[in-house]
Amino acid sequence: MTERYYLTTPIYYVNAVPHLGHVYTTLIADTISRFKRQRGIDTYFLTGTDEHGDKIQREAQAHNLAPKDHVDKIVAMFKKTFEEFGFEYNHFIRTTDDYHERGVQDLWRTVRDAGYIYKGQYEGWFCHFCQEFVTVEDNPDGTPPLCPNDWCQRPVERVAEESYFFKLSEFQDKLLEHYEKHPEFIRPEIRRNEVISFVKSGLRDLSVSRVSVKWGIPVPDDPKHTMYVWFDALSNYWTAVTKRGEDENLSRFWPADLHLIGKDILRFHTVYWPAFLLAAGIPLPKTVFSHGFWLSGGRKMSKSLGNGIDINVLLKHFKRDWVRYYCLREMVFGQDGDFTYQAFIDRVNSDLAKGLGNLSSRVLTMIGNYFGGVIPAATDEGKAAADEIHNSLKSARERFENEFQQLSFSRGLDAIWEFIAVVDKYISDNAPWNLAKDETKKPLLETVLNTSVSALYEITVLLAPVMPDATETIWQQLGFDGTPASVNPSTIDSAKLGGHKIGSVSPVFPRLDKEKVMNEIKQETPEVPQETKAEAPKAEATKPEAAAAKPEGDGLIDITDFAKVDLRVGLVLEAERIPKSDKLLKMKIDIGEAQPRQILGGIAEYYTPEQMIGRKVVIVANLKSRKLRGFESQGMIVAASVGDEGSPVLAGFHEEVPIGARLK
Ligand SMILES: [Zn+2]
Repeated sequence: MTERYYLTTPIYYVNAVPHLGHVYTTLIADTISRFKRQRGIDTYFLTGTDEHGDKIQREAQAHNLAPKDHVDKIVAMFKKTFEEFGFEYNHFIRTTDDYHERGVQDLWRTVRDAGYIYKGQYEGWFCHFCQEFVTVEDNPDGTPPLCPNDWCQRPVERVAEESYFFKLSEFQDKLLEHYEKHPEFIRPEIRRNEVISFVKSGLRDLSVSRVSVKWGIPVPDDPKHTMYVWFDALSNYWTAVTKRGEDENLSRFWPADLHLIGKDILRFHTVYWPAFLLAAGIPLPKTVFSHGFWLSGGRKMSKSLGNGIDINVLLKHFKRDWVRYYCLREMVFGQDGDFTYQAFIDRVNSDLAKGLGNLSSRVLTMIGNYFGGVIPAATDEGKAAADEIHNSLKSARERFENEFQQLSFSRGLDAIWEFIAVVDKYISDNAPWNLAKDETKKPLLETVLNTSVSALYEITVLLAPVMPDATETIWQQLGFDGTPASVNPSTIDSAKLGGHKIGSVSPVFPRLDKEKVMNEIKQETPEVPQETKAEAPKAEATKPEAAAAKPEGDGLIDITDFAKVDLRVGLVLEAERIPKSDKLLKMKIDIGEAQPRQILGGIAEYYTPEQMIGRKVVIVANLKSRKLRGFESQGMIVAASVGDEGSPVLAGFHEEVPIGARLK
């Protein structure tokens, strides 16, 4: 039986035009599906849009459009963006599709008939932005309180109406049991722990219908109610493969193998969704993987900060493959990542132009120059060194495969680029350009170029899911038709390359002129986010700490003075606001010691607790501990101080660094 794999992106809510966040999740899904397909796995990749709810209804009204006409316009923009990025999804579902509406009603009936839906009266706060009923204390002055979700904090609205309820409270034990039995159900681990503690704190029945919202799917047999938008939206993963009618065979894909989501919709996917399915007796998806957010210059991207990365600017100045590479390499999947144009250009230049591009063009050019474009067979000369290259290729390939299976894209790509460095060194050590001058060295030259081109050939096949366009170009330069995506890496045989004629060679990744490109981008964007560098951790997050390492006299310090400051890499395990303080966050930070430290930082106006958890930061580890607002702080978090207000921008790293590493 053929192995099957079904993966989904969230369906994107059409209250916003497509941005980097949408592109990121979808490119991850696209990469995974290409990876699976290349390995002969029967793969189904679903994306789409979530189109109901009063927020959409209001926006359509604001544009003087019928809701469907309004959403059609936004959906067209999503499809266009996805086409520009070359995403190869199998199906684009819209929650306004007929089959979906019918399918959700079927699901509702099943859950209702099983006794898990009842009619009642809802009264409470509703956040329109999150489309979620929220529990929050009333303000004494009667004004609406703010949404308790960290990423939202917008005013909520009072809602009192008849409503259907889903008996979520009956699923607490069943969900906990499922999390226990299937540790892979919620990934990464940090999110799993969050969900478990949320569910353990108790589940209340969930209001799943509204009478005041007209733009939604009618509740079966009681059409004055429309369904709660999340009941409607989450079901898409299931209706897309079981209710389409035209291809019944699609139901072979249920249950889904992977739901990719952003961490802001974790609870919906790991508590409500499995509870709905359990109630309906439908098998649960295997894994919900929650990825982090892209920050820019260490801060959350937002319109008001003007630090967003504009996907149109990206596509105008850069190739889509470079965006794929950067996103996969730069963000440790599951954690937050930092996206700046500067760091992006640096990556393209160092890894693509100088790394892979240089390897490709110099190997192929030498084969052209010394062997008339025909790949030489390896000889016995230099066999030991060549065997070593083949061995390290084998281990790079194994690492790549394992890491990608685990969705550790960044580490998988590390394996390939470490290997590229090994091949570069092999070529430099053997200096083929010198060997070519001496006829007696020809057998060694043949081995060196055969070995190098074998490495290039296999790398090209492995990277096909990551950079489909660029690898296809290299593939043609290697003299092959079609695409490397059609070669299953498990069947790869580079030993047969001897005697093969290569194609014509040209640079695949041109080196970018950073200054020139940045100037062009600056003219197009009002404010371009700046890089944060860990090299200069000088400024500080809170004023009281400013005296810590102030230089004296001539303003210069000796290296031994600097060495007195113990700067370490730490991982934020927990973060929370402090009551009655707008500025302070209280964090538990692992710096590689037996116990994590409790550290307070004056960053709460700029970073939410949600953004901090899972993030790597720089800590002054040997600062005397002191009390802030009654809490002990055992160290200090390092940040740049930006602008007149001294806004903190946390120091961070562009490469993976181990916890506890010392900064020197
Ligand atoms: Zn909210």
